[in-house]
Amino acid sequence: MKRITAMLLAVLLAVSVAGCGAKSAEEQLIAMDTVIALRMEGAQAKQALQEATQQIYDLEALLSRTRESSEVTRLNEAGGERVEVSAPVTQLLRWAEDYRRLTDGAFDITVAPVCDAWGFTDEERQVPAADVLRERLALVGSQRIRLDGSGAALGEGQQIDLGGIAKGYASDLMRDLFETYEIRRGTVSLGGNVYVRGTKEDGSLWMVGVQDPKQPESSALVGMVGLCDAFAVTSGGYQRYFEQDGKVYHHIIDPATGYPANSGLTSVTVVADADSGEAAGTMCDALSTALFVMGEERALAFRRECGLAFELILVTEDDRVIVTDGIAEHFVPSQEEVYAYETTS
Ligand code: AMP
Ligand code: MG
Repeated sequence: MKRITAMLLAVLLAVSVAGCGAKSAEEQLIAMDTVIALRMEGAQAKQALQEATQQIYDLEALLSRTRESSEVTRLNEAGGERVEVSAPVTQLLRWAEDYRRLTDGAFDITVAPVCDAWGFTDEERQVPAADVLRERLALVGSQRIRLDGSGAALGEGQQIDLGGIAKGYASDLMRDLFETYEIRRGTVSLGGNVYVRGTKEDGSLWMVGVQDPKQPESSALVGMVGLCDAFAVTSGGYQRYFEQDGKVYHHIIDPATGYPANSGLTSVTVVADADSGEAAGTMCDALSTALFVMGEERALAFRRECGLAFELILVTEDDRVIVTDGIAEHFVPSQEEVYAYETTS
């Protein structure tokens, strides 16, 4: 509940700067295991909002790991047999494998059995025994998923969890829907996934807050970034974690070790232009998870070398905030003197 309250605060903060146009509509809902806030301005805002809500619930019904009838659950329970799946699931499986390859395995949706061992799926959180982790790690590798036109089969013993990419995909759907309904101004926030369309009413940029990972239950920020027509997606260990014997264990797993990534980062925000490719929201989501696993050096090198266009805000355990040069000009640091701010290429 605390987490939901904190997220709600963050959402409100992210969208509280919205102007009040004549034909605007807004809605908050809880779906995809997070708080979702939608705000749209335009002649068709009401219909767009209704359609948006429906699309989010439909996607949740396809991708949920906890619903018996979802396509993801059917795949996970098929024991490696082929399952007929819908186009969005095929598409997501394809992209998930692309990001596994691109990130050298830092992003891998088949890490699911490892996440389960930590209890991040059913809420009974615990540090798993080393031999349990070893067994489950042997199942990881999304290159073993076989896809054909309308079906998919996991490798034997494998399970998938699309939690690291699904909200980004949902934000891409929202971007397309804004286009269809000619919504020229608005904001979408799905947990740590934000999409902003156009500018504020006075022509200024939307200010998207980056949560202070040290204060997850409050609305404290490390800073804000001014954006227009963009996605901003944050992954952080503070978003879901538990403590055992004085140690903190979070939900982003390093597929190389089976343990929560211990990379020196406390959060990663990936920012991209909304029109950079057909699925920039999905890209931001997959990369925020992967770059959190990689850590500062590998993440920055990856950005320079991978050929994809995106910007980063990294928060480190040793209290630095690293902002890449493409957005540095629009980044406003927090007034509190907790963090040292750096710009990098
Ligand atoms: P995000 O909040 O986008 O960083 O995604 C975190 C979620 O993705 C977790 O709750 C898991 O469901 C899943 N996950 C954890 N570690 C990984 C990983 N290395 N690659 C892909 N998905 C992951
Ligand atoms: Mg992600």
